[in-house]
Order: sequence, then C-alpha cells, then structure tokens
Amino acid sequence: MSGFNPTLVIKNGRLWTMNEQQPYAEAVAVHGHDIVAVGSNAEIESLAGPGTEVVDVGGRVVTPGLADIHVHLIQDAADADAVEVRDFYDPQVKSVKGILAKIRARAVTVPPGRWIHGNGSPMQDDRLAEKRLPTKAELDSAAPNNPCYVNFGAHVMVVNSLALQMTGITRDTPDPVGGWIMHDASGEPDGGLRERAQIPVKRADDSKVKSLEDGAVALLQRAAGRGITVVHDIVTNAEAIAAYQNLAAAERLPVRVHLLIRIIEADITTKSMVEMGLRQPFGSDMLKIGGSKMSIDGGFTGRQAAFSGLNGLIRIDQDELDHTVEACHLAGIRCCIHAIGDVAVDMALTAVERAQLEAFKPDIRHRIEHMGNHLFTPERRDRAKRVGAIPVTNPSIFYFVGDMGEAYIGTERNATCFPLKTIQKEFPIAFGSDATAYWPVDSIRDIAAMVTRKTVLGTVMNPAEAITFYEGVRAQTRDAAYVGFEEGRAGTLERGKIADICVLDKDPLTCAPEKLATLPVMMTVCAGKITHRS
Ligand SMILES: [Zn+2]
Repeated sequence: MSGFNPTLVIKNGRLWTMNEQQPYAEAVAVHGHDIVAVGSNAEIESLAGPGTEVVDVGGRVVTPGLADIHVHLIQDAADADAVEVRDFYDPQVKSVKGILAKIRARAVTVPPGRWIHGNGSPMQDDRLAEKRLPTKAELDSAAPNNPCYVNFGAHVMVVNSLALQMTGITRDTPDPVGGWIMHDASGEPDGGLRERAQIPVKRADDSKVKSLEDGAVALLQRAAGRGITVVHDIVTNAEAIAAYQNLAAAERLPVRVHLLIRIIEADITTKSMVEMGLRQPFGSDMLKIGGSKMSIDGGFTGRQAAFSGLNGLIRIDQDELDHTVEACHLAGIRCCIHAIGDVAVDMALTAVERAQLEAFKPDIRHRIEHMGNHLFTPERRDRAKRVGAIPVTNPSIFYFVGDMGEAYIGTERNATCFPLKTIQKEFPIAFGSDATAYWPVDSIRDIAAMVTRKTVLGTVMNPAEAITFYEGVRAQTRDAAYVGFEEGRAGTLERGKIADICVLDKDPLTCAPEKLATLPVMMTVCAGKITHRS
C-alpha cells in the first residue's frame, strides 16, 4: 500500500494554483516527481500514510515553482568561488573599506601565493562611499601574500603588486591591442587594467572553481532559495552542455534547466544545430533543449543597444539574421532573438515575418528577448502578434539600471518603459532576469519591481503599467510554462503536473511595498524534491 501514499503533503496553505478550473485550494499531495492531488486540507490529509512527509505551512501562500526564462547562469559558474563584492548581490558592500575587509577575510584562509579574485559590479565607483575604486596599495595591504584582483563588470579590474609581478607587467610593458595598462604619475603600473589588458590576469588566476558542475549547482541552489524551479539558460559551448548533462545524470540539478543554444558568436554553428535535428523540447523534465539564441544589437548597460538616432551596435546584418532564423524555423527550432533597441526589434520582427511567409508555423513560439522593455508601440505589438512572436521583458534591468534610461534614450521614450500591463493583454508575460553576472536570479524581486514600479534607487517609472503580485506570479509560472513548451506538464498546481512548488514566507498581499523585493521563501520543491527550506 505504501507505494500509493504521497511522498509529500503540503497542507494548511493558501494555494494560488494558477489553474482556472480550481484557482484556490488548501493542500497539495506529491508522489515522486508529480502532483497527485490538490484540494482541501481534509481531502489531502486523508491520502497521507506511513512514509508521507507532511508539512504544515501555517496559512502561507503556496504557488507553483517560479521560473526565470532568460539567464546566463553557467557562463558565470566558474566565478562562483570569487569573493563577493558586487553591491547588486551584497548591499552591505557600500565602500572601498568594505571591499577590502572582505578581501582581507579571504586572504587569511588562502595559502600564500594562491590567487584571490574579488567580483565587483559595473560602474560601482559611482556608488561606493569614496566615489572611486580601490587602489593597488590598498589591495597590497589587504592581501600582502597573494596575487589579487577585483573586476568591476567586464571591462575594468584593479590588481595588486604581486599580481603584476606574477603576470610580468612592468612599467615597460606596452598596451596590448584593444587594452590599456594604467600608470601612476611616476610611470609605474597603478594596478588598473582595462579591456584586453585583463587577459593575462584571468589566465593566471588559479582560484576558479575546479568544476563547472559545482559552480552551476551553487548558483542554481541560490536560485532555489528564491522559489525558482526552472531556468532557461543560454549556453555557448559543448563544455557547458556536458556539465549540465553530468548534473542531470547524477541527479544533482536543484532547478530544472532549458538550454537556449547560442548559435552566433558561439562555439556552436547554426548548421551544426540544424544538422543534429534536435529541437525543443528534446530532453527530460530536468534538462531539455529550449531553442536557439542569437543577438542583434549590443547591451543596455553598456549603452550599445540599437535605438534609432543613437549610435548602437548591430552585431549581425538583416541578411545573416534572416538566413539564421529561416534555417532554424524550417528545422522546427524556436529562435530566441536578442533585440533591445527599436532598430533591432524591427529587424527581429522582419526576420520572423519572412520565415513565417516561407512556411507558416502557428505554434513555433519564436521569442524576441528584451522586446517590451522600451518602445513597445501599438505597431510593434500588432506585428509581433501577427507573426506569433513572444516579447520577453527584463524587469531586473528596470530595477537595477532603469535610472539611467532617461539620460540614455530620452525622457519621452523612457516614459513608456516596461508596459507589462499592456503586454499581458495580448501575450504571455513571462520575463527573464539576464542574471547572474551582474545581479542574482530572483523572480520575486523582478515581480516586485513591476508591482511597485520602483527602481533600486526608489525612482517610480511608468506607474500606470503596474501589474499585481498575483499577475507577476502567474507570469513566472503558468505563462513561463507556455513559453517553455511545457504548459501540459508544469506551471500550475494541478494533478499530473510536475511537483514544482514555492511557499512564500510572508503574505505578498499585506507586505509593505518596500519589503516585497526581498520577500522570503519558506520552502521550494522542484520535481518533488525539497530543494530549499528556511
Ligand atoms: Zn541575455
């Protein structure tokens, strides 16, 4: 008989099931990977038997597990052991002094001679109390016996004297092509290395995690702590895909992963992906193919997006884009096309339109990544609808760097930013964080930003487009499952669905708005396994 007992029962909850047939319930029963029943406390309790773990959640809100449908997680996994000095990860880091204290604490645990790497945020000098980055001398005093460096985003790092010595950088070393070694007044390297001058340090650094697998698990585990049960991760090489396969085989994945396979500016070509014949949703519940990924323009934080009238970066011309999208489309591979500026979004819509004219596929669910952040006009909305493309917004960009929007693209264009209320009338509105290099995966934070319409600095932008917390959860559960081609298998609390469950520790409907972004998670269940418990 015990084979029929649920392995897990969650009772005494307020379930937001996202299932229209049964929107609210009190309890859920899980057997193995799947949900076997949803109902009242009495109904579900009666199913429990010996071997059933029963968790009383004391009236808390229970939702389906949350998704984040655009991350660069494994790309960041090798840095998982770095000293964390990114203020977007650790808001306690407010000064150069604070950064040095964390480096000093690490230095006493690391043998002399081993590298120490601190990972900082882009443009952090603006936000540090001293309004500058640390100096070489300061890093020397914090880590006197170790080569040490701290990067601030992707373009600049500061290193100490031992790091310069070990990489052979002296006052006579010329700047490499595409990079700069910074010098003090006397001509000595001052520790600042920009762009490609950073490469020798990154090569020499022996502090990286020994395996990509361990780094990925650490980052996925952190996401599980925020109620996340599924991510769509952009991968660029065989090493990353192999690491995920190893983790799936060893049953070590705390979060389900969809692979978005990058086919331009990556080690994998369009031709090889098409020739393999593998398309979404090939794989298992835990690890599957989610489609292909390509980028049209540059990024928002680097002011390299292709907005009309601004000098943005176009990385791929219309012809190459059309051919790439068409090749994937004809092979049945869904495309996820990065397009931030209006020029790039129009190029993406054109490519999808042409592919659909070639062979109409009503359910291929091509995505335009970052569409809907800015300049989501009625014309673009109608075009996207007509060609069956899904806009994927990034509330994390609104939250962390939205304050630069006005200066970057102008007051008028910024006024209509992130119109999620409008978008959800016509499209599923699942969104992605673009984490983890600059900020962590955290869908609750992203939902909160779209509810309060407040940036990290407290600026309110386009409040008429606020959504409710419930709608945000629906976006990151039911809508995300649709975008991931798994609406028949995930995204709601419903019999027969994968047991992906999130228990919120505080009531989001009565929580003070300023505390919504950090609303704690009591428990996360992914495919029937408890992956987080506070
Ligand atoms: Zn991205």
